[in-house]
Amino acid sequence: MDKLGLPGVDGMLFDLGVSSPQLDDPERGFSYMKDAALDMRMDQTALLTARTVVNEWPEEELRRIFYQYGEERHAPAVAAAICRTRRERPVETTLELADLIRRAMPAAALREKQHPAKRVFQAVRIAVNDELRAVEAMMDVAVEHLSPGGRLCVISFHSLEDRIVKLKLAGLVKGCTCPPDFPVCVCGKKPRVRLVSKKPITPGQRELAENPRARSAKLRVAEKL
Ligand SMILES: [Zn+2]
Repeated sequence: MDKLGLPGVDGMLFDLGVSSPQLDDPERGFSYMKDAALDMRMDQTALLTARTVVNEWPEEELRRIFYQYGEERHAPAVAAAICRTRRERPVETTLELADLIRRAMPAAALREKQHPAKRVFQAVRIAVNDELRAVEAMMDVAVEHLSPGGRLCVISFHSLEDRIVKLKLAGLVKGCTCPPDFPVCVCGKKPRVRLVSKKPITPGQRELAENPRARSAKLRVAEKL
């Protein structure tokens, strides 16, 4: 925007959903249904791949990302199974990983509607691409470039992402970053935005009928002060 010489814009919409073409490309190693090398990089020049995360990150770290980024209840069992396997030989492909996850799950989890590997794959993808930190940084830059009264809209597709967006917006609403026990503000940071609606906006029946992929979408809107 600086290059375009724009002083500010009146609205920005960020769609945090990964583009379907990227996920549908079997070569990129995002899918637990098609066999490919473990990659999952959105940016092909980045150094960290899913193969490194799965084969080299410590067991506690795997457990943490499966819990936090995948909201996977069986994180300890899956992390332990991965570490057991990779002591013999590295996990190289998406189907190897998916199969290993399936075998680590208790029988009850395998009867769920979701594919048993879905949450762990999501977690690895978020870790590989450092997606959550990218979201926060993007929102800072966006608010910077909005004109007063301009609106920032963010659509997220899973609860973890939505939580990050919600917390980030709360910080921008409050402005001040002083510890809560300080009697007076010393940081001098002022509120940057106000929330247009407190609750996130979700798709209605008609939109869901036309586009089932919108099922988990949440839209949050803030207005620059
Ligand atoms: Zn302060």
